[in-house]
Parts: sequence; structure tokens; C-alpha cells
Amino acid sequence: MAYVTNSDRMLIGGELVHSSNGEFDPSINPANEAVIGRSPRGTTEDVARAVASAQAAWPAWAATTPGERGARMRAFGQALKARAEEILHVEVADTGNTITPMRGDVGMAVESLDYYAGLIHELKGETIPATPDNLHITLREPYGVVARIAPFNHPLMFAVARTAAALAAGNAVIVKPPETSPLSAMVLAEIAREALPQGVFNIVTGTGATVGDAIVRHPDIKRIAFIGSPGTGRAIQRAAADVAVKHVTLELGGKNPLIAFPDTDPDVIAAAAMRGMNFTWQGQSCGSTSRLLLHEDIHDAVLDRVVERVSKLRLGDPADPATDMGPVNSRVQLEKVLAFFEAAKVDGARLMTGGGRPDGAPFRRGFWVEPTVYADVRPGMRLWQEEVFGPILSVGRWKTVDEAVELANSTEYGLTGAVWTNDIRNALNVARRVRSGHIWINGCSSHFLGVPFGGMKNSGVGREEGIEEMVSYTEAKTINIMLN
Ligand code: NAD
Repeated sequence: MAYVTNSDRMLIGGELVHSSNGEFDPSINPANEAVIGRSPRGTTEDVARAVASAQAAWPAWAATTPGERGARMRAFGQALKARAEEILHVEVADTGNTITPMRGDVGMAVESLDYYAGLIHELKGETIPATPDNLHITLREPYGVVARIAPFNHPLMFAVARTAAALAAGNAVIVKPPETSPLSAMVLAEIAREALPQGVFNIVTGTGATVGDAIVRHPDIKRIAFIGSPGTGRAIQRAAADVAVKHVTLELGGKNPLIAFPDTDPDVIAAAAMRGMNFTWQGQSCGSTSRLLLHEDIHDAVLDRVVERVSKLRLGDPADPATDMGPVNSRVQLEKVLAFFEAAKVDGARLMTGGGRPDGAPFRRGFWVEPTVYADVRPGMRLWQEEVFGPILSVGRWKTVDEAVELANSTEYGLTGAVWTNDIRNALNVARRVRSGHIWINGCSSHFLGVPFGGMKNSGVGREEGIEEMVSYTEAKTINIMLN
């Protein structure tokens, strides 16, 4: 099979380059295991060159006016838009995510660039009346060189939407794309090279162990923003602390509850449970409400409906708009999901649908698993405690509001949560008591630009997607002007 893209270069210091040792990694289409492209296997030297070029570039970038900087960012967005179809096809083939919802990813990237471009004027300091005779002011200064390390589920969107705030604040960025889905990053490299000043936007592909670690340990990168698994997040905190004092923010996993009250329509809850699980990307979404907590009065009615819907999901070619669910992203992900099927058996969860690999010729090659529902999932079971990051929905039941809250909070995670009820008091009471950073009342899954997103407990540190994210890429400098 032909490559889906011939773009195979990183972006370092305004140049499209291969790695310092000339090595590549093949990229695999998870739907059929065909090799569909390649990416440079970046090295520690590549990271060092990217940091040096970013270090040289950021002062001039930070010295541009808000208008100039914003205009460059918006133009970057327009250039992305011009290649949106190409990026979409690369991304679908490289991630396994289905094509229709993936159409939104470039749009989200462009909107984020526009949003932060418009916010630059809000990078204001303060005047503090600490003493009556003097002036005490703060300035917001960029860190200089910052890094973004991204996961495999939305590589292009994270590389752009989650660096826009850093660019707006006047930093130069180093992006580390995910190694299992790196191809869109090399199309992005070509676009960013034309759209942004040399050295302001750098991309270094390669493994987490080499490139990721070199970024985290580089003494000139004080600000690191990570999206990925909790284990890697903690490894990054440790490695960063070995080297220097760093500002590390983490967007990690979740085992997010959707709590349904008995006053809700079972059909509505079943539809919400489907949306909340993000089967369109095989459940590989940090915000997926993968624990469905049903009040006992509606438990059976909702469960029947959910099982019926899940068993009808059409698996197939992610590039076909008729497909509901594609393959999981990699062999590693596949094995992780399969291990959960085994654990569910051992723990005694009740399998309702799925629970294995699909039959049939189209699924012989590729990383396919069936969309799956387990009932009677309880605290203590692996399926209750651990993020699968795959298409497994776990269903539990509750009787009292206190019990629902306790169950919701009974994992180490606290990323998202959803409450479904028409009773405003129950809705707000539960929303306030659930220890998650992002709660939907009568909603699920959606992110809203400008509205902070991030996790409590072991789901993360920091908030992204709002003005707070932009401010987090600056340091306050206080100046005391002694007038007397
Ligand atoms: P991962 O942690 O395996 O990898 C993420 C990135 O970290 C990759 O680019 C990888 O190369 C890099 N990396 C790996 N080891 C590293 C190291 N030692 N030092 C520096 N970088 C290293 O995660 P994944 O499997 O790609 O993504 C799935 C995880 O991401 C899930 O847990 C999911 O919940 C989480 N996620 C969170 C959010 C959020 O906003 N909270 C969004 C999407 C995904």
C-alpha cells in the first residue's frame, strides 16, 4: 500500500529535517497494519538543536505587538485550513479514528489559534496598592522555550490547539508528537515553517524514552505541558525534578462517572451513555464517561437500551463515513484492552455484549476489538478502578444520592463527570460533591472553547482551554517603584 503522506521531516529552527542519525520509524495503519508513512527517529541532539533555535527565536517573537503576533497565529490557522482534507485523511489512517467526527479536529485547532490570538491583549499585569506612596506593578513575561508532549488520540489538534496559548504569550514551542501516530505532525511541520518565524515552532518526532525524556530534562525548558497517561505524567514530574525546578502541567486519564437519576428518560440516558463513551474514537478519550452509574429504578431499562445500541455499532474502515467505530490505535492498546477482558472474567463482571475480537475477514489484520458493555461492575474490580482507554463501558448501580457520590469518587481519578436529572437540587448537589475537574449536567463529552478543562486527583494538574492556560505560559515579574 502506498504511503498516505510523503511528508517525513521534522521542523527544527525553520528547517524541514530528518533526524541527526538519519533513522526513521514506520507508521502503521491500525485498521490493517499496512505501513503508511515514516517519521524521523529524533535524537537528543535534535532536541538540543530545537531548543537552541527556540531560545534564539523567542525574544523577537515576544517583542511583537499583540496585533502582529495575533495576525501570524491567525494566518497559521488559515494555512492549516487550506490543507484540512489532506490532514484529515492522514490522521484517520494513522490513528484509526472515524472520519466524520475527526473532521472537527482541524477546525478546533484553527478556532483555538483565533481565540488565543484575540486574547493577547489580556496578558495584563496588576497595580497593587501595597504602600500608598509607591507603585507596585506586575508584568507577565513568557517562559521563553516551552514544550508540548502529545498523545495519540488527536495528534494534530493537540499539537496546535494546545500550543496556541503558549505562542500567544510570546513563547517559542517544541512539540513532541505521539510515536504511534506521528504523520500529521510532518504535514504540520511544512505548514508551520511557512506561517511562523524561524524557530518559533519546532517539531521533534521520536520515542518518549529518547525525545520526550530529552525535552523533559533539557535545562532550558522550564515549562512543560503534557497530555497522556498518568504513569508517564508522573515519570515526567520525576525526571523534571531531577534536573531543575520546572513548571509541569499534566492532563492525564480518567475513569469518569455518568450518574443517572431515576427521573430521566432511559432512552435519553442510553443515548448520552453512547456519546459519553466516544465510541467514534474507540473510547480513546480522556473524558469518556466509562462508568455508567444508574439508579436502581432505571438500571435495567437503561442497560437494555445501551446494550442494544452498542451491539449495533458498525465496525469497519475508519475512512468510510458509514463506520461507527474503528480499530484501537496500536498493538499496545489492543493488548491493554484484551487484558481488561481477562480481568473482567476473573473479577466476575457480567458481560452484556462484546468482550473479544470481532470475527470476519476485514478484522483479521489490524487492532480490532468489539465495543463492550459489562454490568455489575463494582469497586475493587480492575474495570472499576483503571482507565481502559478503549471501548469498554462499565455499568454499576446505586440507591441513594450519597451512595452515588461515594461511588463516583471511589477511584484515583477526577477528570470529568456527568449528572443526568431534571431536579436542579440533585444536579448541583452532585456536581459540587463529585471530585472531578469538569462536570456536565445533562450533557457529556463536549469541550467548550474558553471553558477550563483539567483534572483533580491523579487526573492532572492545571487547566487548559481557557484564559488560564495562556497565563500559565507566563511568569509574573513584580516591579516596586519607590517614589519616596
Ligand atoms: P502516553 O503517556 O503513553 O504518551 C503520551 C506522550 O508522552 C507520547 O508522545 C509519548 O511519546 C510521550 N512519552 C512517553 N514516555 C515519555 C517520557 N518518559 N518522557 C517524556 N515523554 C514521554 O499516553 P498515550 O497512550 O499516547 O495516550 C493515552 C493517555 O492520554 C490516556 O491515559 C488518556 O486519558 C490521556 N489523555 C488525556 C487527555 C486530557 O486532556 N486529560 C487527553 C487525551 C489523552
